[in-house]
Amino acid sequence: MAAAVDPSTAAFRVRPRNDDVCKYCRQSQTSDKPLFYPCKCSGTMMYVHEDCLKRWLETSQSNKCEVCGFIFRFKSIWKLDTPDSLPVSEIMQGLYKSLTTALCIAFHRSLVIFMWGIMLPLATAILYETAFPENESDTGVITRMSKMFKLFNLTYQILRFNVNPADWYTGIGVVVFNCVTVIGMLYLREQLLQERGQ
Ligand SMILES: [Zn+2]
Ligand SMILES: [Zn+2]
Repeated sequence: MAAAVDPSTAAFRVRPRNDDVCKYCRQSQTSDKPLFYPCKCSGTMMYVHEDCLKRWLETSQSNKCEVCGFIFRFKSIWKLDTPDSLPVSEIMQGLYKSLTTALCIAFHRSLVIFMWGIMLPLATAILYETAFPENESDTGVITRMSKMFKLFNLTYQILRFNVNPADWYTGIGVVVFNCVTVIGMLYLREQLLQERGQ
């Protein structure tokens, strides 16, 4: 189904030339985006793409041409070869498409939450503990190396739920502290640059 400009306006049938452009986007017509002549405007303001017109009417919250004041009427036009009822195969295709799209979005969001919410804080906690150990005895190279090794099988440990919540808290703290520091420094730099520019 396509909502189209009402073809009952006589001027609608005027054929655009190759160098005619849409009054909104200044692009010429293509086979899938033909130009229409939907109102009483003439000259360079004459033609529009259906999508451009609809977007304009939506953003301007209006139903008439901003130049000539012509009031647009829309009606649904079905393609000539549209069947009376939709075949099952097409319904299944549509379902499959929306299902795969939903799955992709869900996977993407879970991955983002996993990386930012779990992986990053835990990896940060490991790095932080390696760099600044709590016990003096943990400062040896071997101890530090074995701690760093935890980074490599971190995903495996997370999937086995074999992580220490205290590490997670530490990680969140360090990540937040780092973000605040970086943003603070960028803000300070911006202030200094502005002051110098004045
Ligand atoms: Zn356009
Ligand atoms: Zn007009």
